[in-house]
Amino acid sequence: MIRITHQREKCIGCNYCVEIAYDRWRMSKKDGKCTLIEGKNKKGFYTAVVGDDEYIANVNAAKACPVKIIKVEKVK
Ligand code: SF4
Repeated sequence: MIRITHQREKCIGCNYCVEIAYDRWRMSKKDGKCTLIEGKNKKGFYTAVVGDDEYIANVNAAKACPVKIIKVEKVK
């Protein structure tokens, strides 16, 4: 499994993560920030634990994020 973390309030809405890992990210029409699908909010940090098959796409999204607010880590 992997854990994806998103510090949503710092998102600038560039859409890169949505383009790179569409299964896990969507752009919000309400505030122009992206949303981590199935992410749970804890003090502004949204986290989702998902399957290893999403690892590469989300690592690439994290690398592409201009403000470096996506973190991807392997968990057991
Ligand atoms: S790549 Fe980063 S800044 Fe751009 S929409 Fe995704 S989380 Fe927001």
